[in-house]
Amino acid sequence: MPAFRTLDDLGDVTGKVALVRVDLNLPMRDGEVTDDTRIRAAAPTILELTGKGAKVLVLAHFGRPKGDRSSTMSLSMVVGAVQDGIGKEVMFVPEVAGEVVAQAVGILRPGDVAVLENTRFWKGEEKNDPDFAAAIAANGDFYVNDAFSAAHRAHATTEGLARLLPAYAGRSMQAELEALDKALGSPEKPVAAIVGGAKVSSKLDVLRHLVSQVDHLIIGGGMANTFLAAKGVDVGTSLCEHDLTGTANEILAAADASGCTVHLPYDVVVAKEFAANPASLRTCNVHEVASDEMILDVGPQAVEALADVLKTCRTLVWNGPMGAFETEPFDAATVALARIAAALSKEGTLISVAGGGDTVAALNHAGVAGDFSYISTAGGAFLEWMEGRELPGVAALAK
Ligand code: ADP
Ligand code: MG
Repeated sequence: MPAFRTLDDLGDVTGKVALVRVDLNLPMRDGEVTDDTRIRAAAPTILELTGKGAKVLVLAHFGRPKGDRSSTMSLSMVVGAVQDGIGKEVMFVPEVAGEVVAQAVGILRPGDVAVLENTRFWKGEEKNDPDFAAAIAANGDFYVNDAFSAAHRAHATTEGLARLLPAYAGRSMQAELEALDKALGSPEKPVAAIVGGAKVSSKLDVLRHLVSQVDHLIIGGGMANTFLAAKGVDVGTSLCEHDLTGTANEILAAADASGCTVHLPYDVVVAKEFAANPASLRTCNVHEVASDEMILDVGPQAVEALADVLKTCRTLVWNGPMGAFETEPFDAATVALARIAAALSKEGTLISVAGGGDTVAALNHAGVAGDFSYISTAGGAFLEWMEGRELPGVAALAK
């Protein structure tokens, strides 16, 4: 991981203007914020800066307005929630650059906060237009990026600004980078990765990268079916990308070549129809799946063997559920493994990092998300990091 500046490196910022990029792409229903996790993630950075006497200008995008103003995507809608989340009055400024922002800066006192308008109302944001970035930078003294979830995009407020102003990682960004570095950058060995979810095709680059990085690759979920099929197993009516069996075999060969042990389930939970607790539910060896059955979860014997693998490991990185966990009882393997990983983390023998939209939902469903060492809510950025890619928003923060 490249070294980057954090808020610890700030000098005296009293009265200085901080341009702070955060993630305010909040889930909303009927004009109300339904989950303020992202506001709470940004709060420590905003409050640390106001505590130091900076004037904080918050930058964020919301939705996909494609470079035009849209009344349904104005960040004015979230100002109340931000105010509640940080426990401080927040001004709204309907621009991101120019005279209106300059005037707002004049009105703000040291320690005050303003949320600027949705950065994606301007085409220059997603184009990473240097003129657009320079116009924003003109009203600030320094830049803080606290939006890891947007760091896989090279946009004006995620990348461009870092090139124009002294740039720092915010506390959430810093925590995320440190946790990810512990999991894959310079991990304690042995390292295990659990990769599940629906399709191999969505995670090909993740799998390709991981086989060169980890000691144990545990494959579950729908994507395990493609690997089983590649090994000649008849997976019945399971979700399976038959056109990718060649690719699956290449990944298995690459794993072999780099000393990574791949674990595929040897027993599975199957049913004839995909429904909760179906009459046709049964557990069998992978070689006994009937032609009219589909695999919906990893079986209990495999889970036991995988638990033993995790007990020998010091680090775990997890993306993707082991089965169709939204429907009972196909959550069993995911829940069981999540509990084991959580218990080992709590005992201190395992560093566990998990990420992915459905993965986080599954760990919450298992009731153990709080016991993992780190949970990333960063979706796309987390996956690109698992692919071993350099994230432009992170690279731009490098000292
Ligand atoms: P994440 O969002 O954490 O990256 P994915 O989106 O890749 O995870 O995958 C999650 C989805 O995979 C879930 O909706 C789950 O139901 C589905 N899934 C897991 N196992 C199976 C299976 N055996 N058959 C069909 N779908 C599955
Ligand atoms: Mg998903």
